[in-house]
Amino acid sequence: MQSFIQFNPTRLWFGEGQIKQLQQELGNTGKRVLLVYGGGSIRNNGVYDAVMKQLLDRQAIVVEMSGVEPNPRLTTVKKGIELCRVNQIDLILAVGGGSVIDCAKAISIGVYYDGDVWDIITKKVEPQEALPLGTVLTLAATGSEMNNISVITNWDRNEKRGWSSPLAYPTFSVLDPAYTTSVPLDQTVYGIVDMMSHVLEQYFHRTEHTPMMDRFMEAVLLTVMEAAPKLLANLEDIEHRATIMYAGTTAFNGLLSCGTDGGDWASHQIEHGLSAVYDIPHGGGLAIVFPNWMSHCAEDDPSRMKKLAVSVFGIDETGKTDHEVALEGIHALRQFWDSLGAPNQLGYYGIDDQRIEELVHKSFMKSTIGQYKVMTRDSVRDILIRSLA
Ligand code: NAP
Ligand code: FE
Repeated sequence: MQSFIQFNPTRLWFGEGQIKQLQQELGNTGKRVLLVYGGGSIRNNGVYDAVMKQLLDRQAIVVEMSGVEPNPRLTTVKKGIELCRVNQIDLILAVGGGSVIDCAKAISIGVYYDGDVWDIITKKVEPQEALPLGTVLTLAATGSEMNNISVITNWDRNEKRGWSSPLAYPTFSVLDPAYTTSVPLDQTVYGIVDMMSHVLEQYFHRTEHTPMMDRFMEAVLLTVMEAAPKLLANLEDIEHRATIMYAGTTAFNGLLSCGTDGGDWASHQIEHGLSAVYDIPHGGGLAIVFPNWMSHCAEDDPSRMKKLAVSVFGIDETGKTDHEVALEGIHALRQFWDSLGAPNQLGYYGIDDQRIEELVHKSFMKSTIGQYKVMTRDSVRDILIRSLA
């Protein structure tokens, strides 16, 4: 195990009816609120009304910014920064899924930077200050509600970039599983794949002797795999929504990588390349790429894939090589995601090999990607080719 600091400043209000805590949280900040949301789902499922009631009961002055896209765009971030400045906003309140929250994080930090916020997203400039940010989560997937990471797409450059800052943790997040019952089947599946992928990225680390962390991760995976089919059979089941919601947060709030090297994350980089060029849903891209990353890497070192196969998928290892056990585990993961209805080949999104070199290029938004296996351009190309069909 490595040395680590465990730190997470986000106050999490979890459970039905927790929206009322907004009033208390508003007491900690000024009253001028930028309400950030997406394409309108919150107006159809009652979340908008519930949030507005709390804000207006507390005499907040609310400025609205709607229209944050899935895979949020730099242009939208800039619009939000301008609104904060013009309206002297005290608190940004993001109501939605990971896209809305990620966009709000970039707004909160961009407000205090005179240059182009893209400088911060591309890590040329270290942010110095941020507006307080609160979130009301409506989709269980990214963990953005309790981490300091944000992913923004520059559509003019076809670049999707992840960035982080100690200033980007939400001050508070309200997680009411009832707010997620309206998430449609496909987005529910994408969310499940994304949170499982976050655990898997961290599981594929190279640090010796991490039994606590390994078992935490296995527990999150097993819990999600138990709850997911039951939830998909009844999308309004509040208990399974709650389990999945807390699993999504736990999967990526810093807990699971304590004491490890942090994990691999190449599959996420490859997916970001796909979304930057084809604007596909993040979870859908991961469902296609991740098992192919695993089978590619297992050819060099199947040790962690084998451990996953045995500990999570119950594969019997008797009389088999490590590589064989690893492949059975990868197959079991593929089958599980297939059983949820997740896509398993790029053709699902109409993607063929036409722009494969561009996809390889767009995966390398950092100088090095991958840690379990450091990726070369040839490795990424191989994984993408495996993902075609
Ligand atoms: P999302 O892009 O925020 O939302 C996907 C869709 O779900 C939107 O159309 C949204 O509609 C809809 N939706 C959300 N809540 C709903 C509800 N309660 N009922 C009905 N529809 C609802 O999805 P996401 O998976 O949470 O976020 C994906 C983004 O996060 C990607 O850009 C990905 O790269 C990034 N990401 C970030 C992190 C991180 O740590 N920060 C980690 C992984 C991925 P509306 O627009 O109408 O709300
Ligand atoms: Fe993700």
